[in-house]
Amino acid sequence: MDRIYMDNAATTAIAPEALSVMLPCFGLTYGNASSIHATGREARQKMEDARRTVAACLGAKANEIYFTSGGSESDNWAIKGAAFANKKKGNHIITSQIEHHAVLHTCEWLEKQGFEVTYLPVDEYGLINPEDVEKAITDQTILISIMAANNEIGTIEPIAEIGKIAKAHKVLFHCDAVQAVGAIPVDVNDWNVDLLSLSGHKFHGPKGVGALYIRTGAKVETFMHGGAQERGRRATTENVPGIVGLAAALYKACSNMEENACKMMMLRDKLINGILEKIPHTRLNGHPFKRLPGNVNVSVRFVEGEALLLRLDLAGISASSGSACTSGSLDPSHVLLAIGLPHEIAHGSLRLSLADTNTEEEVEEVLRVLPEIVTTLRDMSPLYELYLEEEKAK
Ligand SMILES: *Cc1c(COP(=O)(O)O)cnc(C)c1O
Repeated sequence: MDRIYMDNAATTAIAPEALSVMLPCFGLTYGNASSIHATGREARQKMEDARRTVAACLGAKANEIYFTSGGSESDNWAIKGAAFANKKKGNHIITSQIEHHAVLHTCEWLEKQGFEVTYLPVDEYGLINPEDVEKAITDQTILISIMAANNEIGTIEPIAEIGKIAKAHKVLFHCDAVQAVGAIPVDVNDWNVDLLSLSGHKFHGPKGVGALYIRTGAKVETFMHGGAQERGRRATTENVPGIVGLAAALYKACSNMEENACKMMMLRDKLINGILEKIPHTRLNGHPFKRLPGNVNVSVRFVEGEALLLRLDLAGISASSGSACTSGSLDPSHVLLAIGLPHEIAHGSLRLSLADTNTEEEVEEVLRVLPEIVTTLRDMSPLYELYLEEEKAK
C-alpha cells in the first residue's frame, strides 16, 4: 500500500490543474509582470486573471486582492499594517488564545512596540464567544483578529457574528482564513471582514504564495517597501507561477466544495467514531459538528503524541501531533491548553487532517493500525500501569 497522507492541515499535494497552468509561466511566459513590453504584459494578463478568480471566490473586488508569500506574511501585514496605520486612533488589539503563531507572535511583538493586546479565551470546544469580543472593545480598540477555523482542532468560529460587532463599533476586523478558504464557504461581505488571509498550499496550490484581502478604504500600512508592485502596497517582482497556481487551485476547490466536503465529512466521522469506539480513554478535541470537514483531533490518554506519530510514520501513515509549527518542541499545544486539557492529556494528542483524495480504504487502514499502536505504547507506559493498579484497588 502507498503511504497514507493525513496531514493536509500542514500542507497539501498540488492539484494537477494548478501545476499545469504554472509550468508555462516558468517557460514561455516568464516575463516580469511589471514590464511594459509584450512579454511582461502577457505575464500581467495571467496574474490579473488570477486576481479576478481569487476575488470571485471570496465575494471581493479584484482590486482588493493583494498577493503575498503566504499565510504568515498576510497575517503579519494585516496586523502590523492595521496597527501602525491606526495608532493615532488607539493602541488596543483583540485576538484569541488559539490563533496561529503567525498571529500570536505578531501580536506579542506589537506589545513590545507599545500596543496592548487582549487574548480572548475559548470554551471547551475552542469556540470564541462573540459577546466576549464585544465586551473587550474599548475606545482604544483599532483591530480585531480572529481566525475562521482552527488549524489544530478544526473548530469553525462565528465569524459573521463577530464581523457584525466589529462593523457596529467601527473597528477593523482581520480574519486568518487560511484553513477555511477552499474548505468552507467564505464571503468577505457576509462576514463583514476588512482583512482576510489565505495561503495557496493549504488548498492544493503551491507553497510560498498567499493573498491578503484588503477592503477598499481600510487603513493599512505598506508592509514591504520597494517597487510599485501590487498597487504600490507590496514591493517585489510578482510570483506569477505561484499566483496562477494559487488561483487555479482555489477555483477547483471552490467549484467542488460541497461534494468534497460531503466526502471528507463522511471519512472524518468514520475516523472519529472508529477511534472513540475502538480505543478506550480517547476524546475528541474541537467541536463535534462546527468543525472543518477534514479535521480529526483526538487525545489518547497514557500515550505520548510524538511516540504515536513515529509509530504511525513507520506504519506508512503521515499524521501530526498538533500543528506542524510546534512539532519538534515539547511544549503542549497552546490550543489544547486553551480548551482546558491538562498537560498530560494535551501531550497525547493526534491530528489526522483529510483531503478529498483520501479514501475509505485508507481510513480503514488507520482504524486497523492505530489501536494496535496505542496498545503497544500503553503496555510500555508507567502511567498506564499506575492507572490499572489504581483501578484494581477500587
Ligand atoms: C498554515 C497556516 C498559516 C501559515 O500559512 P503559510 O502559508 O504556511 O505561511 C497561518 N494560519 C493558519 C490558520 C494556518 O493553518
